[in-house]
Amino acid sequence: METIKVITGIVSLITLTHSLSHHEFCYQDPSCGPGMWVTYFPKCNGTHQSPIDIDTNSVQHNQSLRAFNFYNYNVTGTITDITNNGHTVGLYFEDGSVKISAGGLNGHYFAKQLHFHWGNNSHSPGSEHTLNGKQYSISMHIVHTKDGYPTAEAKNHSDGIAVLSFFIKLVDNKSEDAHWKSIFKPLKNISEPGQSVPFPGRFSLMDLISGVDLTKYYRYDGSLSSPGCDEAVVWTVFREHIVLNASVVEGLYHDIYVNKTDGKKLLNNFRPTMARNGRAVWASAALNSTSNGTRVTTSEPDTSTRKATQPKTTATPYPPKPNTTSTYTPRTTTVRSGSSGLPLARLSLLLPLALFLLAR
Ligand SMILES: [Zn+2]
Repeated sequence: METIKVITGIVSLITLTHSLSHHEFCYQDPSCGPGMWVTYFPKCNGTHQSPIDIDTNSVQHNQSLRAFNFYNYNVTGTITDITNNGHTVGLYFEDGSVKISAGGLNGHYFAKQLHFHWGNNSHSPGSEHTLNGKQYSISMHIVHTKDGYPTAEAKNHSDGIAVLSFFIKLVDNKSEDAHWKSIFKPLKNISEPGQSVPFPGRFSLMDLISGVDLTKYYRYDGSLSSPGCDEAVVWTVFREHIVLNASVVEGLYHDIYVNKTDGKKLLNNFRPTMARNGRAVWASAALNSTSNGTRVTTSEPDTSTRKATQPKTTATPYPPKPNTTSTYTPRTTTVRSGSSGLPLARLSLLLPLALFLLAR
């Protein structure tokens, strides 16, 4: 087994080195920015690409898109390290510790990493996805891969990856949140691409997102929003946004570099919105609610402080019954072939995980 792992590692290293030397992508330099991605990564020219603008006037409501089940989202210490991979800041989860199900997903998905997309400064928008044309300050993406698929293979399946996407709005007149502050505090120690440090923060994922109504979301089938742009992502974009004091995230704009020697900071690391190409965007049941007083809340199998204040909802049968005016049909699993090597991983991380995650 160890021999196999070593061989796999060496092959991965060769693939990565090859990709790095020939197909590095970037966000700001026109020679490797989003407009050039299709040249080296053909899948970026696909018809189901991400991000997109969500036009709430043209979404289709679906009563079968109910609450998620969040497992260990309320447990502290599940994040192991924080990394600058040259394209984003990523926080990595202990393997197999955190997962989601329900919420219209077909099966269980394990959380692997969360990362951010941001603009030029706290007054310049940098979210991926826009809502009725509005771009928010920052996007946070929590990336999960489907139970049963090896991490590196998830991108080869049309339903292999589930991303939970949160908009973050920055303001000047809000108190600083200690949990969020602990995310961005270590950034000075990972200013150069490839740098990674153990994550010191002691908070749970729920500490970050509990201010958002997790039953109000949009759903569509799309892609990884960075090369190789594999169309393997079931996207969930939450309607409500997280509000943070701008001072908390300052490190994103000042401490993270693409190339520190050249003084090139990592800024504006978002892909512009892509054409919807006739794809349906579905609105969850809670967004369709006519009674404002009824708030369908998150079902959490764990013991949680939220449990005390928020009642459990019954799980929605899957697949959803087509008895509503519109039907959300989750993707059936198809295997895709010919996946290209991922371009930009850093060699300092575990290779199988790096193969997939560092492209994000
Ligand atoms: Zn992302």
